[in-house]
Amino acid sequence: MLLVKTAKDLQTQLNRLKTSRSTIGFVPTMGALHEGHLSLIKKSKETTHFTVCSIFVNPTQFNDTADLDKYPRTTTRDIELLNTVDNDILFLPSVEEIYPQGLANEEAFDFRDLATVMEGKFRPGHFDGMAQVVKRLLMLVEPDQLFMGQKDFQQLTIVRDMLRQMDSAIELKMCEIIREADGLAMSSRNVRLSPEIRAKTPIIYQVLQEARQRAKVATPAAVSAWAMQTIEAQGLRPEYFELVDGISLKAIPNFDFKRMMVACTAVWAGDVRLIDNILI
Ligand code: AMP
Repeated sequence: MLLVKTAKDLQTQLNRLKTSRSTIGFVPTMGALHEGHLSLIKKSKETTHFTVCSIFVNPTQFNDTADLDKYPRTTTRDIELLNTVDNDILFLPSVEEIYPQGLANEEAFDFRDLATVMEGKFRPGHFDGMAQVVKRLLMLVEPDQLFMGQKDFQQLTIVRDMLRQMDSAIELKMCEIIREADGLAMSSRNVRLSPEIRAKTPIIYQVLQEARQRAKVATPAAVSAWAMQTIEAQGLRPEYFELVDGISLKAIPNFDFKRMMVACTAVWAGDVRLIDNILI
């Protein structure tokens, strides 16, 4: 695996590897890698000629500075893991390399309601920061295919919208959520859960699965209220549990199984905020 730290070195290596027919797969991450991230790289390896993974903890998408400070950084182990899946290029830029003009966002994005509901409501500015870094990374890597996890469903929906606004030919591939044996969605933040709190977290996926069953007989409002109560009864603090249209992210008044619907939730487990979702 090639490790590059500057935009200039990245260009040099991409130019060296690229031929007129080769395709590039790209997997942006914030590091502290786990099997979920590696599944994206494996997918990319299957369908493109070479894969670029980036690790960059993007300061502009953290609305909470404590969360940014506590975000796990495990670069040596990340490199070992990336070697196990034969990743081709690791791009490991500094903040200055990504934001040569400083951290202020000069671009005003307009994602309409996509960015104001759910995560957007509870993490103001998060999606602008995310879009800013993904756009910059896409300009540098110029991939043919971009691999992102269903785990961050709203993020993926917003990136899809951004690619459409940019008239981009990049293909966005949604990859399934990889879970621990007891159902907890893998996340870099899981290492911060105390054993006692960790033991409570399987309820999140259990409730998501049960919500899918209840959708056959109950209204979205009833399912959401039941889910919030059930998660809370376990000693966790749900921030939202919403049933939304899978494209517009608008709350659905009724279940309609002809359309794509998603149940999305954010839950505080101690001082760790977890998100998860399930397609209905
Ligand atoms: P992050 O490092 O958390 O920014 O995530 C980088 C990419 O990995 C995003 O596209 C995530 O959606 C994806 N990802 C994170 N966790 C998982 C998981 N458990 N399963 C599949 N993909 C994931």
